[in-house]
Amino acid sequence: MTCNICPNYCKSDIDTICKQNPQYDDENVIDAASVAIDPIEKKPLYHYLPGTKTLSIGTVGCNLNCMNCQNHTIARPENALIVPTKSYTPEQIVQKAIDNDIPSISWTYNEPTIHPKWIINTSHLAKEYDIKTILVTNGYTSQETLDNLLEYVDAVNVDIKSLDDAFYKNVCSGRLEPVLNSVRFYVKNNIHTEITNLLIPGYNDNIVDMKKIINFVVKLSDKIPLHFSAFYPQYKLSSLEPTSANIVYKACDLGQYLGLKYVYPGNVPVSYKNNTYCKNCRHLLIDRSNSIKSYIKDKCACPNCNHKVDIII
Ligand code: SF4
Repeated sequence: MTCNICPNYCKSDIDTICKQNPQYDDENVIDAASVAIDPIEKKPLYHYLPGTKTLSIGTVGCNLNCMNCQNHTIARPENALIVPTKSYTPEQIVQKAIDNDIPSISWTYNEPTIHPKWIINTSHLAKEYDIKTILVTNGYTSQETLDNLLEYVDAVNVDIKSLDDAFYKNVCSGRLEPVLNSVRFYVKNNIHTEITNLLIPGYNDNIVDMKKIINFVVKLSDKIPLHFSAFYPQYKLSSLEPTSANIVYKACDLGQYLGLKYVYPGNVPVSYKNNTYCKNCRHLLIDRSNSIKSYIKDKCACPNCNHKVDIII
């Protein structure tokens, strides 16, 4: 039987690329490898419910095989059967969010969209309590799954690894086009979208690659937040040096120069560059240089010039 959950369209039930058989997932038994409460900024989402916590759920498996994977022990384990997991029902997950007064559930750490039934069933219930559903995803998702998830997802952070198909092939064992299709789909359907790009030294930390990703995002909307993130050596790229903070800042400056309104550094010491300023008058809207402090008084407007802010509160 062919699995149509992701663009790999695996034909075998035995040796699937994600090392799971997600088409047979029991929708009422979520096998979680990790459950944690995180600041939503850690996802990273900077323009969605800022300053709130999110209930993070990680499961097992991934449909890409990135040489730099920081979560490879759950995403690409040698043997998926030996990853310690704990089973939860959707009711238990939603109850955990309610008990901790958390307004969102984030599917994160591994690739969430390979287990769409778990997201759909949990979100269906979460909606009753106005708890939002967030995906931190590689975007490597089939159109069938995107369509199935659409009404259950409120916000996404999509990790675009490069705008170069050869990078996806050589570093991630995947393809670029399905990722771009997912990003376009989320934006077109008004799902809150932020983008992350990890800068890997010698692979994609050059001006040409930075420009490509910036131009792709600008073309979709100059209001989409783009997070340029520093790489730390791990998994199959553990012999590389970490990305210098200066390269990350350079990418952020370039993003703003080329027209993006919101570009943020990640995995480097937090500074004023992590703040959000009004795109009209440059007034400080959210200070993240220490703890998270919002200066947005009215739900949608800059307190200085009254210009609409591009942040969901
Ligand atoms: S979700 Fe897993 S099994 Fe299904 S097509 Fe993708 S890699 Fe293969």
